[in-house]
Amino acid sequence: MNMELSRRQFVKGASAGMVSTTLGALGFGGIEAALAASIRPYKLSGVTETRNTCTYCSVACGIIMYSKGDLAKGEQADIIHIEGDADHPTNRGTLCPKGAALLDMVHAQTRTKYPQIRKPGSDKFERVSWEVALDRIARLMKDDRDKNFIAKSADGVTVNRWLTTGFLAASATTNETAWATYKVVRSAGMLAFDNQARV
Ligand code: SF4
Repeated sequence: MNMELSRRQFVKGASAGMVSTTLGALGFGGIEAALAASIRPYKLSGVTETRNTCTYCSVACGIIMYSKGDLAKGEQADIIHIEGDADHPTNRGTLCPKGAALLDMVHAQTRTKYPQIRKPGSDKFERVSWEVALDRIARLMKDDRDKNFIAKSADGVTVNRWLTTGFLAASATTNETAWATYKVVRSAGMLAFDNQARV
């Protein structure tokens, strides 16, 4: 009997508390102001949204990057959040663990952001411009192909092979870029051709 009364008292007290909380939330009292003050501002308010493709694998999931800082005002832009793009037909907003950790990759101290070169005999890499890097790559490729290109096999069959240089392409790219890359590499005679997704 005592237990029965206790339950009733409990329910009665809880109902009274709920009514008072609801009235407060509707603006009856200072609770509403206290509640509003306790809510943190939405962390993605005032950010710039940029669509992109996950860099990791050939699934090429769509992502949205959120950045703060207006470059036009001379501010430093900084990516603060990355999530799956719900409108993307491939992943519909989902990301695998690698994609979900993209923000760490973006901010990693060890991420390569520009071309570097290690000169013969040197023990360190030095930053160079894209112009210098592309000129050097083209020069070395041309010299190597001129020296090692195999037009015909020992049996006199035309083979057009270039076996001394390989090419590593990116898989997270558009079909058009991938098609153009494939054509350039194969047309040059290169057989060693791969990408980081191994597809
Ligand atoms: S690594 Fe994961 S998130 Fe990135 S493209 Fe591949 S499957 Fe998608």
